[in-house]
Amino acid sequence: MKKSGRELGMDREITRRDFIHDVSLASLGLALPAGAVANKPAETSALSGANYPPVRTGMRGSHAGAFEVAHALVLNGKPFPAPADLDEAYDLVVVGGGISGLAAAYYYRKRFGPDARILILENHDDFGGHAKRNEFHQGGSMRLSWGGTMNLEYPLFSDEMNELLGELGVDIDTLLEGYQFRYGSGPKGKHAMFFDAETYGRDVLIPDFSFRAGRETDLDEAIDRFPVSKASRESLKKFYARRENVFAGKSEHEVKKLLSSISYTDFLKKYGGLTDEAADLFIRVTHGYAGVGADSLSAAECIGASVPIMHLLGSRHLSGSGATDAGGDVAMFPDGNSSIARLLVRALIPGVAPGADASNLALARFDYAKLDEPGAPVRLRLESTVINVANQERGASVTYVNEGRVLRVNTKHVVLACYHTMIPHLCPELPEEQKEAQKYQVKRPLLVTNVLLRDSKAIDKLGLSGAYCPGRLHGAVWVIKGVNTLGYRHDWDDTGAVPVMFWGSVAPPDSGMSVKEQHRASHALLLTMTFEDFEREVRTVLDGMLSPAGFDVRKDVLAITVNRWPHGYAYGYLDLWDPEWPEGEAPHEIARRPFGNIAIANADAGADAYTHVAIDEALRAVGELQRRPMELDR
Ligand SMILES: Cc1cc2nc3c(=O)[nH]c(=O)nc-3n(C[C@H](O)[C@H](O)[C@H](O)COP(=O)(O)OP(=O)(O)OC[C@H]3O[C@@H](n4cnc5c(N)ncnc54)[C@H](O)[C@@H]3O)c2cc1C
Repeated sequence: MKKSGRELGMDREITRRDFIHDVSLASLGLALPAGAVANKPAETSALSGANYPPVRTGMRGSHAGAFEVAHALVLNGKPFPAPADLDEAYDLVVVGGGISGLAAAYYYRKRFGPDARILILENHDDFGGHAKRNEFHQGGSMRLSWGGTMNLEYPLFSDEMNELLGELGVDIDTLLEGYQFRYGSGPKGKHAMFFDAETYGRDVLIPDFSFRAGRETDLDEAIDRFPVSKASRESLKKFYARRENVFAGKSEHEVKKLLSSISYTDFLKKYGGLTDEAADLFIRVTHGYAGVGADSLSAAECIGASVPIMHLLGSRHLSGSGATDAGGDVAMFPDGNSSIARLLVRALIPGVAPGADASNLALARFDYAKLDEPGAPVRLRLESTVINVANQERGASVTYVNEGRVLRVNTKHVVLACYHTMIPHLCPELPEEQKEAQKYQVKRPLLVTNVLLRDSKAIDKLGLSGAYCPGRLHGAVWVIKGVNTLGYRHDWDDTGAVPVMFWGSVAPPDSGMSVKEQHRASHALLLTMTFEDFEREVRTVLDGMLSPAGFDVRKDVLAITVNRWPHGYAYGYLDLWDPEWPEGEAPHEIARRPFGNIAIANADAGADAYTHVAIDEALRAVGELQRRPMELDR
């Protein structure tokens, strides 16, 4: 049943396996035709993965070279050679160049003044952490997509977050004017279901049907085409058609308790009347939302995930957000929240993108050579993994590995904006209680794989803008168009090259493992999967879904970028797996306590996987640093 690599076009010379890494587009004959190109950033012809990481394709996210030093420290307890002391001294060293670390540097300058000398150390080859820009040029015009965080969940923003966005020049209302993407509920094309041949015996595409929204007309006809048993189809038809309150007569408190103590999958079977097979179709719907399947989340938590449930709780809508796939009240940049990272970096190190601001930032090409310039007040050092942080009499020392060298710098203050599970290994002298609390934080694995297609003709012919794929690794696929903000445009009627984003996780289905065991198993699995595994996966889906409309998988895939995030979402507490703690005693509250000259940020510190949480935690951490009377000797 499986197609050969050749049939899927895996022998083709596309920009896979980091093809573009060291080669300029111009030398490949891919320079853009003059005058025919929208979204043309400055100096496009000189674009090269060698000096501009956003255009790198192949395996990104947790890429080779980024994690080995950390794993040697954490998993093998590797002793490192004695460090060489660098002749550099700082007021602040930030560990981790994600959104939280960048915001910490920004807030530190606000608090301690623009002359503060700051070093940001980041283990990846790009800044931003989960805020990752994927930039493509292989189809002519520049196309952008995001490799990690994308939604600006603006209704949840604190006043401080709004103030920061204002300082960076971001206006949510302006962003909303250019935002038409809306996760399959945009202006063109509809959401579909795709059942693949490897899992279901034949490829079946059901247009205009979504898990969340069902279908307004001809519902039964659509479900009759699902390649599952008759009993499962009948249970699904009844489920979508029902409007009742299965808890009628129970108090609000009783209903809340019931919904918090049953998994969504069990709710679907027990109260929704679905067969096991039909309920299992929904498992991957929550992969992107929570990094785990619907069998590991409570029914109450799944209300937030906008899956169908409300129609059985007395509402006429299927889900809490009115039964659409739109993703709630969010705004977006065309490269996701990488734009926030870029705006922060530009504010900290203006020379990286002179002239860039919130009106044109999406098109700005950053000069990475300027990130770490001697003498600059703020320096951002990539490919540098911190292995030790220690309080010293006059501040703290930070030891890191860069290109195989073990180096140490002195500083007055440190903000740890890295993963909390790593901190006990960096700061072994922390109190035991705090280290235990940090280890509680096991990040959730996530996957964002962007594939650039030659054009959108097959997609348009089929009337698609997204699809759920219940049998595949990535549970959802979206056509990425219509985020026309920060100077970028990719309109829905543009039939040219188009990024298609595959989104999900590798949470094992109903394995009987605890949720953290699932996460750890998924971390390990993600690191053993090769680029070819992901390539085969996305090509199989594209071939099965689009080839009936003329798509040629051997020719029409131009580039693939896999953003794998074994350490993805911050761990937020779950109804079915975590106890309730008294205020101030939850693991994240203990984990983030300041320690001498070291303060602790990252989204982990808020136990909530949001970009704005990462920023709010940075502000808190910087506010906890003491103005110490002892200054560093310079
Ligand atoms: C796929 C995905 C999608 C998401 N979508 C959304 C969304 O739509 N909306 C939203 O609000 N939030 C979203 N989130 C959550 C949001 O991205 C995060 O909360 C936020 O970006 C985290 O920022 P951070 O700086 O705390 O952590 P990170 O982004 O993880 O940054 C920490 C950085 O520290 C580095 N680091 C770790 N250890 C070391 C070390 N020893 N030395 C040096 N560097 C180190 C890491 O490699 C990393 O780059 C998403 C997350 C993921 C993974």
